[in-house]
Amino acid sequence: MTHIFHRSPLTPPKLAARGQSNYLIDASGRRYYDGSGGAAVSCLGHGHPEVIDAMIEQLRKLEYAHTSFFSSEPAERLADTLVRQSPAGLGHVYFLSSGSEAVEAALKMARQYHVERGERTRRHTIGRLQSYHGNTLGALAIGGHQGRRALYQPLLVESHHVSPCFARHYRLAGETDDAYGTRLAQELEQTILALGPETVSAFIAETVVGATAGAVCAVPGYFEKIRRVCDRHGVLLILDEVMCGLGRTGAYHAFQREGVEPDLLCLAKGLGGGYQPIAAVMAQEKIVDAIVSGSGAFQHGHTYIGHPVACAAALAVQNIIERDGLVRRSAQLGETLHRLLRDRFGGHPHVGDIRGRGLFQAIELVARREPDTPFDPDLRLHALIKREALARGLACYPGGGTMDGVRGDHVLLAPPFLATQAELEEAVDILAAAVDAAIASVGVLQ
Ligand code: PMP
Repeated sequence: MTHIFHRSPLTPPKLAARGQSNYLIDASGRRYYDGSGGAAVSCLGHGHPEVIDAMIEQLRKLEYAHTSFFSSEPAERLADTLVRQSPAGLGHVYFLSSGSEAVEAALKMARQYHVERGERTRRHTIGRLQSYHGNTLGALAIGGHQGRRALYQPLLVESHHVSPCFARHYRLAGETDDAYGTRLAQELEQTILALGPETVSAFIAETVVGATAGAVCAVPGYFEKIRRVCDRHGVLLILDEVMCGLGRTGAYHAFQREGVEPDLLCLAKGLGGGYQPIAAVMAQEKIVDAIVSGSGAFQHGHTYIGHPVACAAALAVQNIIERDGLVRRSAQLGETLHRLLRDRFGGHPHVGDIRGRGLFQAIELVARREPDTPFDPDLRLHALIKREALARGLACYPGGGTMDGVRGDHVLLAPPFLATQAELEEAVDILAAAVDAAIASVGVLQ
């Protein structure tokens, strides 16, 4: 048995020996198409020579310097790049090493902003059900993923949750997008009023939901309504684009398609593209101003924030994305992928939804389309599909079922921005075979 405490030590994962462009290669030489870039991480695929060279060059110059003594050139340049590509107000960047850390830092920054302005009573954070914001205790508390929270419930700080925006499952019959968005914004407002607006610090949401529900976009107008509620009550809006940000949905920031700007923005996976662990919180001027003109410093920090090699890797990744027009490519290839999924699964008796934006696409499985009925969650169909796909050479990201508090199983595809059409065609072919094999294995293929 392996000495690594893998998630399931009795069934350790395959050993990935090498990465080559958009493929992973195991110890026996088998190739797997990286159809979800891990968890929407590997936006440039594997072994990109320019990123590797940038990391080596930085290692030769300086591997590490603690940020309480020094900044570094790659950190400064990466912050400049992020700010230059973002709307004007998002003028400051705080680096971290993981998505969970970014969420923790954003929650604390929001709290400190209020305290600096004399609003010491603002302490509550409101999140949404069926969301995922990370596995550290603060991020887990504000996330709405039932399965991941359950065991640790006694350790979690007090947090509050409102309904997700998931029209397919929760919009009422006959309700328009506008009415549905208004109803959800009212629910948030009621929650703020019930807690007392003077006690609420922030509302946090994934702009496009990733891990729990699979590429779920809000209905048009939802975020504008939410933004107005937050503004009315002095509550900060934190958008978590750890998974869906930096080109993944075909826009640089996913919120740019929603007509709003967050007060705080969490970024991670695609920032370093998997070449190094790195994350960031971007903050509006008013937040940094309040902290700087108040106590002077954000009361936070980790040993490895702004790590020079991580910043050099992320800088190279972001420069390549900008230089090669990869956000546009993500949008265009996303349309291709969506069309391929529609062609293949549009008439499939067990696919009830095909959704997503850019290279962030998902299919949702149903036991029956009419009436719309999910598979029994105990079958864990999504996990079976993952296994069948892997056996056929495709890595894809499954989720759903009662564990996540989500109705139904789904499979997420989030291939690298450098994917080719031929690769996407093959990935969809393999996914179709895997879906049919998994459904046949639970004995319900009609
Ligand atoms: N937020 C979102 C939206 C995520 O998808 C994730 C990871 N799946 C996280 C936060 C946590 O990131 P990490 O695993 O890097 O801590």
